[in-house]
Amino acid sequence: MVINIQPDEIGSIIRKQIEGYVPKMKVVSVGTVLQVGDGIARIYGLDEVMAGELVESEDGTVGIALNPESDNVGAVLMGDGRMIQEGGSVRATGKIAQIPVGDSFLGRVVNALAQPIDGKGQIPASEFRSIESPAPGIISRRSVYEPLQTGLIAIDSMIPIGRGQRELIIGDRQTGKTAVATDTILNQKGQNVICVYVAIGQKASSVAQVVDTFRERGALEYTIIVLETANSPATLQYLAPYTGAALAEHFMYRGQHALIVYDDLSKQAQAYRQMSLLLRRPPGREAYPGDVFHLHSRLLERAAKLSSQLGEGSLTALPIVETQAGDVSAYIPTNVISITDGQIFLSSDLFNAGIRPAINVGISVSRVGSAAQIKAMKQVAGKLKLELAQFAELEAFAQFASDLDKTTQNQLARGQRLRELLKQSQSAPLSVEEQIATIYTGVNGYLDVLNVEQVKRFLVQLREYVATSKPKFGEIIRSTKVFTEQAEAILKEAIQEATELFFATT
Ligand code: ATP
Ligand code: MG
Repeated sequence: MVINIQPDEIGSIIRKQIEGYVPKMKVVSVGTVLQVGDGIARIYGLDEVMAGELVESEDGTVGIALNPESDNVGAVLMGDGRMIQEGGSVRATGKIAQIPVGDSFLGRVVNALAQPIDGKGQIPASEFRSIESPAPGIISRRSVYEPLQTGLIAIDSMIPIGRGQRELIIGDRQTGKTAVATDTILNQKGQNVICVYVAIGQKASSVAQVVDTFRERGALEYTIIVLETANSPATLQYLAPYTGAALAEHFMYRGQHALIVYDDLSKQAQAYRQMSLLLRRPPGREAYPGDVFHLHSRLLERAAKLSSQLGEGSLTALPIVETQAGDVSAYIPTNVISITDGQIFLSSDLFNAGIRPAINVGISVSRVGSAAQIKAMKQVAGKLKLELAQFAELEAFAQFASDLDKTTQNQLARGQRLRELLKQSQSAPLSVEEQIATIYTGVNGYLDVLNVEQVKRFLVQLREYVATSKPKFGEIIRSTKVFTEQAEAILKEAIQEATELFFATT
């Protein structure tokens, strides 16, 4: 085929394009690498860069400018940056770090840059959010009033957590901190709460186990996992919680409820300390930089219960902090305790004594308190806390007494059974009506006829019996949220029948 092109046609096209040409001028600020190493680059010549702005090197490695000094800029690199060389050029992008967000992230495992690392392919997303975004102000918030059920009796009855609250989980290593948080995520099934689990500086194998549990129990479909393991660069471990917060905020600002777990912030603080020392910021207490408080406060302030104008969405935060030998007065623990609205204290003594979850009820608090409980729970839980406190006191001095009077003996027996009632296996959260039935049985003395070793088995049977033979009880609690006289009568009957059955079969 022969194409016949007329020279004057081409000429007119070129003329049109020249007429339509509008010169555009763009200032690109480019600097030179002075020094690079340990995930940090010092760059000369980026005079106009903002703190927190993304910079890009020739090989495509992205960094965040954190230390704008008078003659150079310190940037932390996302990635190993092995291809960056001294004398190479770095371009400022004019953008603050952003990540894609959206529903498509549910059920996925991503890194601190929100890139998928579960081998299930790209995540389509249409919306973006800044990794760092300012916390909602006072006018945008309302007080916390809806319960966020953890499924653990000790917490929901005595240290209740509300939607939009920040509750710290604190304790030594291997005391069940992660278990409390993951059980809470499992318990959100069917509750319309989107969960984000941020794992920072942990072993990849332990996180894999958590993900497996979520998958087996059908919790993965409403959960996003953000993972930076202990092998990741410090910069990415530092960034992971903010990424998780941005992913969760997307749902809150859409009027939904979200829950985020930061496991754990001690490791993030250590990563930040490493970065700061490499950036030559002056070290302060425990060699952390002076702004380590701001590291955690700006993160945790993003949890909120939004006002009705903003759609009543909420973001509940459960940060985890590890202590050394139970020392809560160390730098990071005191900081985070002062930022959050209460703490759940896990103790290794209780854990080793077989009391699991190892929650020390005496020194754990929730500043939101009973505002975040349904009425039915308030009705039965008050007595539980009182009796347990009395028992703790009595037990301490009963160790020294040889013969005790009858009332003291009875009180001790009751206390032992109540403590038994709070024990729960891992990954076995209880619904609120099951918890109410359990607590009612304990505080009204129906467990006193059993041996302490029988309590756990009896309670399992009782809950099963109530669910199968007395479904009306659960219906009343769920629909009215009140422990009505009718509910009490049904429960009493169930306890009596279950006890007879228990003794008949054992
Ligand atoms: P680390 O400091 O390593 O992060 P951790 O404080 O997060 O530890 P977990 O990993 O949650 O603790 O739990 C420690 C061990 O105790 C695990 O083997 C876990 O299976 C077990 N465990 C946790 N909770 C319970 C429970 N309620 N009942 C029985 N075992 C439990
Ligand atoms: Mg853990």
